[in-house]
Amino acid sequence: MAVLSARGLTRTYGDRSAQTVALDGVDLDVRPAESLAIMGPSGSGKTTLLHVLGGILRPTSGTVLHAGTDLARLSDTARTRLRRSAFGFVFQDGQLLPELTALENVILSRMLEGRSRQSASMEAAQWLDRLGLTGLHGRRPGQLSGGQAQRVAIARALAGGPSVVFADEPTGALDQSTSQQVLAVLTDACQEVGASLVMVTHDPHVAAACERTIMMQDGRIAAEHLRGGDAR
Ligand code: ADP
Ligand code: ADP
Repeated sequence: MAVLSARGLTRTYGDRSAQTVALDGVDLDVRPAESLAIMGPSGSGKTTLLHVLGGILRPTSGTVLHAGTDLARLSDTARTRLRRSAFGFVFQDGQLLPELTALENVILSRMLEGRSRQSASMEAAQWLDRLGLTGLHGRRPGQLSGGQAQRVAIARALAGGPSVVFADEPTGALDQSTSQQVLAVLTDACQEVGASLVMVTHDPHVAAACERTIMMQDGRIAAEHLRGGDAR
């Protein structure tokens, strides 16, 4: 049983005169609670794959099944609703709203999902504490270190109890030791709540934290490795 099941995914950009094939026939199952790294050279389709799996981008053809629903066939509104309730996202630079405090950043995403302010506040505060941000709830992103800001982004991604967390170079802007801490926080938090983690990274050390790695090349999955196991 897969939490996400993608078949025959293609994605092209541009028009007939200048077309880029970013995905060229990807089949992929994401299993419940697994951690999956997506690696490969720049331009190989990693981010496009992440965005299609996460319902941010529609594939040109192919299907992405989540709990029996094909994301590619949903209306934009329905896809957004599903994304908010079932998925969490962490990007390289956190993408926190600069005018809001850490707490408000987490609360807002919960309220967009339809939670009351009160229950969203309690849940947000608990997540910030759990990720080591006690005492920093009232700070704006500009008053946090890079590692702290990424923890806020992780709290925001996890607060909704997502079934899948998508991360695109989540530690790409951090120094080595901060990067390792944030990575541990992310993988532990996903494991704790039983969320699958799908993470794009250039860094083999980051990929090594995942149970499975797929290597993208020219819009296809060129290889797959299991941690501690053989290449397939
Ligand atoms: P990666 O994440 O592996 O660097 P991307 O998925 O970002 O790969 O890009 C795959 C290919 O699609 C690249 O050739 C890239 O230039 C192209 N591409 C990505 N996004 C767009 C876009 N919005 N418009 C046109 N081409 C794009
Ligand atoms: P990454 O570092 O993840 O590969 P990029 O720097 O390639 O990301 O791309 C950043 C953003 O620009 C993405 O949203 C991607 O879709 C878009 N993009 C990438 N390549 C192109 C392109 N050739 N034309 C237009 N947009 C692009």
